Amino acid sequence: MRTDFGYFEEKKLGKPYDMKLLKRLYPFIRPYKPLIFWSILLVVAITFLDLSIPYVTKTAIDRYIVPQIDRGINDPNNRTEIGGRYIQVDLTAPEIRETVKKYYQWFDINGDVARIPYDKLSQLDREDLTRLRRQDFAGLTFISIIFLMIILINFGLNFVQRVIMEYTGHVVMHDLRMNLFEHIQSLPIEFFIRNPVGRLVTRVTNDVQNMHELFTSIISFIFKDLFLLFGIAAVLLSLNWKLALLCFTVLPFVFYASSIFASRARDVFRLLRVKIAEINTRFSETISGIKVVQLFRHEKQNFLEFEKLNHENYLAGMQQIRILGIFLPFIEVLGVVVLSIVILYGGSGILAGVLSLGALVAFISYMKMFFRPIRDLAEKYNILQNAMASAERLFLILDTEDKLTHPLFSMANKPNDLQMIEEISLEDVSFSYIAGEMVLEKISLNVRAGETIAVVGPTGAGKTSLINLIMRFYDPTGGRVLINGRNIKYCPPSAFRAKMALVMQEPFLFSESVRNNIFRDIGDVSDQELAAILEASNCKSLTDRLPQGPDTVLSEGGSSISSGERQLISIARAFARNPQVILFDEATSYIDSQTEIQIQEALEKLMKRRTAFIVAHRLSTIRKADRIIVLNRGRIIESGSHDELMDKEGFYYQLNQIQN
Ligand code: ATP
Ligand code: MG
Repeated sequence: MRTDFGYFEEKKLGKPYDMKLLKRLYPFIRPYKPLIFWSILLVVAITFLDLSIPYVTKTAIDRYIVPQIDRGINDPNNRTEIGGRYIQVDLTAPEIRETVKKYYQWFDINGDVARIPYDKLSQLDREDLTRLRRQDFAGLTFISIIFLMIILINFGLNFVQRVIMEYTGHVVMHDLRMNLFEHIQSLPIEFFIRNPVGRLVTRVTNDVQNMHELFTSIISFIFKDLFLLFGIAAVLLSLNWKLALLCFTVLPFVFYASSIFASRARDVFRLLRVKIAEINTRFSETISGIKVVQLFRHEKQNFLEFEKLNHENYLAGMQQIRILGIFLPFIEVLGVVVLSIVILYGGSGILAGVLSLGALVAFISYMKMFFRPIRDLAEKYNILQNAMASAERLFLILDTEDKLTHPLFSMANKPNDLQMIEEISLEDVSFSYIAGEMVLEKISLNVRAGETIAVVGPTGAGKTSLINLIMRFYDPTGGRVLINGRNIKYCPPSAFRAKMALVMQEPFLFSESVRNNIFRDIGDVSDQELAAILEASNCKSLTDRLPQGPDTVLSEGGSSISSGERQLISIARAFARNPQVILFDEATSYIDSQTEIQIQEALEKLMKRRTAFIVAHRLSTIRKADRIIVLNRGRIIESGSHDELMDKEGFYYQLNQIQN
C-alpha cells in the first residue's frame, strides 16, 4: 500500500496527556489571560457560595428549628449525663415573661433566661408557643433571606463566569482555526496527496471544536470540581471528623474504579475516532468520485463497504457505552453506600447526642455534592481524551513544514534578479513522487526568453510532472531547476510564480462568477478590460451564451461547463495576469474541433512575445514551436524543430503518422 491515508496517525497516537501539548496550546491562550484570570476568580467565588448553602441550612435547623441539646445552663461541661433538648427564651420582654409565668411549672428559670424541655412544647397553647418562639421565627426569616441572596448572587456570578469562559473559548478556537487554515493553504501539493480532504475538514471543524471544549471544561474541572472536592472534604472534617473519615473510606474504591475506567476508555475512544475518520474519508471520496461510482454501478459495493465502516463505528460506540454503563452506576452505588454510612452513624450520633440534626442534614447534602464531580469525572475524562488527541493532530499539521520554502529566503527578501525571467533551465533533473518510482530522469533543457518549447509524448511520460517542477509545486529529487541561473529550490515560489501563468490540464475553477474566476486577487477591473480579455481569450462566445454573461456563477470545480470551456477561461485567467512565461498543459479530454480552434487561437495570442511551454496531445498545435521535446518514460528521447524531427523519422514521426 502506498499510503494508508493517515489512519495510522490516529492509531499510533501515544499518551494523550502530554504536558508538552498543553504548553503548545499556551500561546493561543496567552492573549486572553486577563479573561481567564477573572473567570477563575469567579469560579472560586461561586464554589464558596456553593459550599455555604448546606452550612446555612445547618444553621437554620440547629439554631432555630430543632435546638441543640443543652447539658445545663450552669454547667456546660457536664458530660456525665445526657441533657435534654430545650428551648431557651429571654425574659426581658414583658409578654414573654407573662407567658412563662402561665406555664411556670415546666420552666427552669435562671436570671433573665428561662428554658423549657422540647417535648413539653406540644402541650403549650398555639398562640403562646408562637409568642415564645418569635425570636426563632425572626432568625429563620433572616436565614431564608440570606439563603435567597446566596442563590441569586450565585446565579449572577455563574452567568457572568459562563459568558466569559465561552467567549474566551470561542476566540481561542477562532484564532486556532485561522492559524490552521493559513498554514494548510501554504503547504506543498504533496501534503494534499497524502491527506484526504475529509480528514483535513475534520481537523478544521471537529478538532478545533474539541479544543474549545477542552478549554471550557478543563478550567471548570480544575478550578471548580477539584476546588469543590477539597472544600467539601475540609468542611466535612470540621463538622465531624470521625464521620468524615468514615465516608472517605470509599474513596480508594472510587479511585481504583476511575483508573480502570480510564485505561479501558482510552482504547475505546481512540478506536471510535479512527472509525469516524474512516467514515469521513470514505464519504468525501464518494462525493468527489460520484460520477465514477454511478458510471461503474459501484453504489452497491460502496454501500456495503460504508455499511461495514458504519457498523464498526457502532460496535465501538457500544463498547464505549458498556464501559460508561458500568462506571457511572458503580459510582452511583458508592454514593448510596456513603449515604447509608452517614445515616447509620450520623443517626446514632444524633441519638447519642454527639451530632446535631443540622449537621447530619448538611453532611448528606455535602456528600451528594461530593459525588457529583466524581461522577462527572468520566465525562471530563472523555472530553480531555478527545481534546488532547485533537490537539496532537492539530499540531501534527501545524508542524508539517512547508518543505518548499527555504529558510534562507523569506518573503521579505525576494530576489530582485527574478524581475525579468531571461532563462529557464533544467540540469540533470530527476524526479519521483514515490521513492523508487522514477517519473523523470536526467532531463536537461535550456529555454531562453521568448522561445516556445513544445513537449509531447505518450500518456504517463511525465509532461505534467515537468511543468510541476518548473512551477515548483515539487522539488526535484536530483539535479536543479534554474531561473536566470538561480536554483529555484532556494527561492520563495511567489518570487517567480507571479510572473508565470499556468493553464492546467484539468483547470480548477471556483464556485464564483466567471469574472471573479478570471480576476481573482487582481482587484477591480473595468468592463473594457474584461471585454478585451474575453475577446483575446476567445471566451466571448462562451460568456455570451451563459445566462448572466461573465457574472454567471459556476458550480464547484467549474463542473457546470465543459473541459474545453474551462481551459478557455483559464487562458483568460492567464491573460489577465500578463505573465512573462506561459505554461500550457493541453486537456486530454475530447474537445470538438470548433473549441480546439478557439483554444489554439487564444493560445497563439497569449504566447506572443512570451516564453512558452506547451504540452500538446494534438500535434497539429505545435508545428510552429521553436523546439519540440519528445518525452517517453521520463526521458527526453528526441528534440528539434518539427521539420527536423519529421526528417529523422523517429518517435515523433511515428506519433504523427498514427494521428493522421
Ligand atoms: P498525460 O499525457 O496523461 O497527461 P503526463 O505525461 O502528463 O500524462 P504525468 O502526469 O507527468 O504524465 O505522470 C507521470 C507519471 O507520474 C505517471 O506514471 C503517473 O502515474 C505518476 N504520477 C503522477 N502524479 C502522481 C502523484 N501525485 N503521485 C504519484 N504518482 C504520480
Ligand atoms: Mg499530463
